[in-house]
Amino acid sequence: MLITNMPGPLPCPVLRPLLRIVLLLLLILSSCTKGDSRNTLLETETTNSASQDGRSAGSVDPVEQYLTEGDSGLILDDFLDRILKAAEIPPDVAGKVSVAAAAGPSFILDLLTCLSGEPGLRTLVDKEHALPGGYEPVDLVELGNGSCQVSRKGLLLRRMAAESLEEMAAAALAGGVTLVASSAYRSYAYQEEVYARNVRESGQEAADRESARPGRSQHQTGLAVDFGSIDDSFAETPAGLWMAANAGRFGWSLSFPDGYEEVTGYRWESWHYRYVGRDLVSFIDTYFGGIQQYALRFIYEWERAE
Ligand SMILES: [Zn+2]
Repeated sequence: MLITNMPGPLPCPVLRPLLRIVLLLLLILSSCTKGDSRNTLLETETTNSASQDGRSAGSVDPVEQYLTEGDSGLILDDFLDRILKAAEIPPDVAGKVSVAAAAGPSFILDLLTCLSGEPGLRTLVDKEHALPGGYEPVDLVELGNGSCQVSRKGLLLRRMAAESLEEMAAAALAGGVTLVASSAYRSYAYQEEVYARNVRESGQEAADRESARPGRSQHQTGLAVDFGSIDDSFAETPAGLWMAANAGRFGWSLSFPDGYEEVTGYRWESWHYRYVGRDLVSFIDTYFGGIQQYALRFIYEWERAE
């Protein structure tokens, strides 16, 4: 079903990462426990030396043995480093992820939450990662007749994104702001037309900056929406400002932020949001500085790592 139909190297694309996470979780917990033991050991040693009540020379303390054999937390560090490098996460962001992961199990638990969600929410689709050519969501529904206005009839989104969009638009409307969806799901064939037209009108380089080749558009997932005017003027409209401040609360993430063309492959698109769900928005914001592309690349590499 859905994007889980995508070809992958694993017979079960979900089970193996879950197993790995459980293992890592055990590792972390064991590391934390041992950290506590280490503190206890230090306290014990202090007390012992103060009371002159030490163990007899030559006895082997199991905690000391653990300390001399190394910290299992290093194994996680090494694994994380490999993933962060493979995902090309820049050093400042990677450093914060490593610190967060070393600080306790929250990072892994948050990651586990994202990995247990609908796979389509975290699917990496960009200039280097294409959807299967014929991919078409099975649960597309037409937008309209609700709080979210549409610029034309026939706009489609996957059901969960459409429901979330409606909830978000109702909240915006309650604050006096009207959201208008101008483009939503695009099929492979339609994206082929859009891209070809852009190449004809603006040349290939410009077309690549501003539109995706077929199979490489987030719009083909049925989870992305272009709002309002679909140009830079959107950012300063009430809807643009409202979305920038509130979209995350409803699980929507700005895909191509200002200043990240080198990372995302696209110039700033203040109007293009992708529904990734609240858990993934929180993961993106907490650990990846709000940059969707970093988090999706990290998760992509994590799920494929050996
Ligand atoms: Zn778009």
